Formats: sequence, structure tokens, C-alpha cells
Amino acid sequence: MDSKRTLLKNADWIITMDKDRRRIRHGDLLMQGERIQAVAQEIPVEEDMQVIDARGKVIIPGMVNTHHHCFQSLVRNIHVANELSLMPWLKVVYTIFQYFNPDMVYYGAQVGLGELLKSGCTTSSDHHYIYPSSSREKLLDVTIKSAREIGMRFTATRGSLSLPSDHIPSSLVESVDEILKDSVRLIQDHHDESRYAMTQIGLAPCWPEFDVPALWDESMKLGREYGVHLHSHLAESKDEVAYCLDKFGCRPTEYVADQGWFGENVWFAHCVHLSDSDIKLFSKSRTGISHCPISNMKLSSGACRVPELLAADVPLSIGVDGAASNNGSNMLTEIRVAYLLHQLNYGSKGPDAETILEMATVGGARVLGRDDIGYLAPDMAADLVLIDWNDFSFAGGTHDPVSAIVTSGDSKMVDTVYVNGECVVEKGSLTLVDEEEIVDRSNRLAKRLLKDASVEVPELSKDIL
Ligand SMILES: [Zn+2]
Repeated sequence: MDSKRTLLKNADWIITMDKDRRRIRHGDLLMQGERIQAVAQEIPVEEDMQVIDARGKVIIPGMVNTHHHCFQSLVRNIHVANELSLMPWLKVVYTIFQYFNPDMVYYGAQVGLGELLKSGCTTSSDHHYIYPSSSREKLLDVTIKSAREIGMRFTATRGSLSLPSDHIPSSLVESVDEILKDSVRLIQDHHDESRYAMTQIGLAPCWPEFDVPALWDESMKLGREYGVHLHSHLAESKDEVAYCLDKFGCRPTEYVADQGWFGENVWFAHCVHLSDSDIKLFSKSRTGISHCPISNMKLSSGACRVPELLAADVPLSIGVDGAASNNGSNMLTEIRVAYLLHQLNYGSKGPDAETILEMATVGGARVLGRDDIGYLAPDMAADLVLIDWNDFSFAGGTHDPVSAIVTSGDSKMVDTVYVNGECVVEKGSLTLVDEEEIVDRSNRLAKRLLKDASVEVPELSKDIL
């Protein structure tokens, strides 16, 4: 293990999010290799330490994003998919998804994960469910490679589409055997159970509407056998609830519960349309939720019942969802919107800023089944974010750092990010990759994708390829 010691000295605030929710004024934080060695008001300097002046910074734990489709970064802000609700939107974007190649998947992940790192997120999950028949091989491995190269701690989930439908082109549909075989290979090749693991695998059928019942059942068995978490979408829209009632005679939550898909090793994205009895089921089974407010607003899906879920002690976290339904992958924006959405809907009963930050840190760690990330304390992973406390946009409102970061925060305030003790963002820029090259390649690949998919874009004609 790398035993290099780095001391962040005299930060204006350290927001630990530990069990006592300590906020340390003028505090020090010492990292040793991949882990935190100490967090205290004053840590004496020793000879072997690299000392970094953290004055003018607030240190928070790295945030945890629990739902994403990284490849979608190349399918954002497309005029034919804007201003559509979930079902018509799906039909448009799935038509485009079948033209993805490995290069596009790689750069989609560089953009999605890069934007997350630059907005204070240090662990991300990814739900990759497109495996076009033209280039099906090892696409999740491509996102894992992308995450390793950019420095993100990563839970890669093996998604899938196994049921042909009006919304899904047949070239994206895989057989159950094919999916399960690849799932086992991915677990064996990449899943790391050790403390401070940088890569873990999860299994993730796409949706009750898009996958055959046998896949849910077999995935659950595999998850139990190999000790990996299970993930999917659930109860995102009213249409989905109506579809399940019509086709299965039950609500989406009841459908997945019938497949055995409930428990501490399962988390679902969205969960917008939950009944009181659905909430009880989540609460009793400790099943996790990834709350994705921006995606739910953009696709007119509705608002998750966060205050009721918090009252029922359901494990709650925050997810940006794929960039095609968010047009961004920005955790600071996501938590600000989460805060505002529930103030709008619930007034003073909406979660306060600290509760929102808790969902984005310790909540995310809990949902992903990790006890080594999410808060700042000795022996936790050295995943942390230094925010510029002197940023102009904080001026006049520096009485409460948590409230300021959640309700006024923006990624331009993120100065430095450490993941596993490694500095991956410095002065707001990614350190391990060339940002300019990513921007250039991604723009070119996105245009190529739209051209291949015959999507008419007015300015697409001549400047590429
Ligand atoms: Zn999603």
C-alpha cells in the first residue's frame, strides 16, 4: 500500500457527515495512501507529510451518485428528444442507442464521469443496458476502463434488454443466456470485495416492461451466489404503473417483490409513484432508492415522496440518471434541485440541506452496500472534495457551510477532488485525462452517432467526419 501522507491544513470547515455530524472549524485532515488517517482541529506536522494549505476551503466527503447511464452523455440536448415525456422519449432515444460503438461508450463515460468528478462526486454507479448487436462484446468493460482512467470509484451494473417491444429495436435485445453468461464473466473479471475497492459489479435488468421474468429471477440468484448488489428502474411514471396493472395485474413494486427483488442488496432508481403500502415494503425490507429529481422533472414523471420515505427510514440516495434525461451529470446541481423540489412540494416539511447532503454521501454509500465511503473519519477511504469558500457566489452567506453548499453550490466552486487518496481534480480541472481531447472527441462522436442514426440536426451537415 502507498504510505504517502498528505496533510490538508487549516481548512475553513470540515463537514464530516460522520455519525455525530461534526463540523470542524479551522480543521486538519490527514490522508495516508488510500485512506483517511485522522480528522481533527489540529494535527501536528511531521517530517514525512506533504502539507497542503487548505485555508479558504470547505472539505466535504466525496458524493456518491447511485444512478447513471454514462453512455447517454452523447445523446443529450437533442432537439428531437427534448420536451418529451418518458414513453415517447424512450422511443426516440432507443432508436439512437442501437448505433453506439465502443468508442462512443468510452467517451460517453469520460464525459459523464468527468462532469461528476468536477461537481464533487467521487463514487458513481453506471447502469449500462445497451449492447447493440453490431458491437456487443464487453461494453461494460469499456466503461470500467473509462472510470479507471479518469479516477472515479465505480459500481458498474450489467444492464440488459431481453424483451422485444414497440420501444426497443430488436438489435438491442439479448437472450437471457447471453446476459447471464456475461454477468458471471464480469463479476469474475472485475468485482472487488475488498475495502477501498475501486471497481464493483452489480446486476441490473432494465425495467419490468423490458425484461422477461426469468431474467429477474436468475439475476437475483446470481446476485445472492456472488454477493453483488441488484439494481433497476422502478415506478418512474404513471404509464409504467398503468402498464403493470394491465399486464401483470399488480403495481410495479408488487411485481418486483414477487420476483424476490427486495432487500438490502437491491436498489431502484426513481420510485416516483409509490403507494403507502409500497413505502412500507421498502421500509420493511430496507430496499434502497436512488432519487433522480432532475430526470423526473425533465421527463414530466413527477416527484418522489422523499419526506415520507425518510420518515419510514428507507435508504435514500441521489442519482443524476443518464445525461439524455438530465442534460447533465452534475451532483451539486442535482442536490440543489432535490432541495428546492421538496421545498416546493412540502414546504417546511421538505428535507433540510443537511438531510439532502446526507442522502448524497452516507445515503449513497448505504445504498451501494459500502461501509468505507460516504463520510470523513479515520480508516474511511480518502474520497473528499475541497470547495472554494471564497467563491463570489457564497459571498454574504457564509454562516452555514452545509446550507450554502447545498442551496447555493455550483461545480465552479469545486477546487480539488481526491479519490482513494489520489488528486483527480485540481483547480477545477481533471488531472488524469486531457479535458480538451475529451470534449473534441465526444463532440465528433456524438455527431457521428446522430448521422448514423439519421437524426436530422440542422448544423450537422459539413463540419465533421
Ligand atoms: Zn435511468
